[in-house]
Amino acid sequence: MPDLRKDPITGRWVIISTDRARRPSDFSRESFKIKGGFCPFCPGNESKTPPEILGYRPTTAGGPSAPKDSPGWRVRVVPNKFPALMIEGNLDRQADGMFDRMIDLKQDKRFKYILAFKNHGDAAGSSMEHPHSQLIALPILPKNVAEELEGAKQYYNYKERCIFCDVIQQELETKTRVIAENSDFVTLAPYAPRFPFETWILPRRHESAFENASSQMYENLARTLQTLIAKADRVLDHPAYNFMIHTSPIGDSTNDYYHWHIEFLPKLTKVAGFEWGSGFYINPTPPEEAAQYLRECKVEAPIAEPVGA
Ligand SMILES: [Zn+2]
Ligand SMILES: [Zn+2]
Ligand SMILES: [Zn+2]
Repeated sequence: MPDLRKDPITGRWVIISTDRARRPSDFSRESFKIKGGFCPFCPGNESKTPPEILGYRPTTAGGPSAPKDSPGWRVRVVPNKFPALMIEGNLDRQADGMFDRMIDLKQDKRFKYILAFKNHGDAAGSSMEHPHSQLIALPILPKNVAEELEGAKQYYNYKERCIFCDVIQQELETKTRVIAENSDFVTLAPYAPRFPFETWILPRRHESAFENASSQMYENLARTLQTLIAKADRVLDHPAYNFMIHTSPIGDSTNDYYHWHIEFLPKLTKVAGFEWGSGFYINPTPPEEAAQYLRECKVEAPIAEPVGA
């Protein structure tokens, strides 16, 4: 019997088709493969991208760090050459840290939401092989976030508690959908996932805005995300994937009802007519099974590296 499940936050229905439950090896997927060729994101090719907004260049033995738009960086932030939306005015603003990009964009009164995401692999819509993430500031609230915010607000008005905090507490009690946990984060398969192996990473304690977390939280988040990706690479044979950060909207970043999180979506199936037509999703892998595969897959703990330089 297929299992009809309703996401407690958005009220979205999904069909978990247990009768054709699929194991990791059953997906015919396009794994991420390095094709090579010229890459404008590689060190040495800085002149092939628009001038950088921000770069982390570690200094060696107390020497000066390399200049802007030159090699020697660990992380580089550049404007999108083909932006979906254009920013007006001066892009050449100064920022002190990776997450200050969001704080900086929040100053612009036209923006209502800042979405950070990563596309990895052709199947996940990435046109560039080099690992990179993107940041888009939007003048409207995206629909998926608006639905979560609405659901979370309703729950809060009724129970005076954050629904995500309640979900985390329940999941940590039952453990069936928990993939990993540490002092700051819980990695879990949601009760009603749209896609096989859909995974969320949530801060353990209530936090409404991603950009307001401590640097120690970001370090732990980087390790948590690396661990999840290493597990997914092992279990699902290097899948293409997307992940996005869902945080509170600009102007309402400190609140008691919304809890920021990362949604990690390996690209294993194609969304088809039924999904487009109905808004329902059919998921062939129960989240309890997906969580078990990922939980039991042992990977080496990533080495702690300081954020920034
Ligand atoms: Zn490259
Ligand atoms: Zn919460
Ligand atoms: Zn979300």
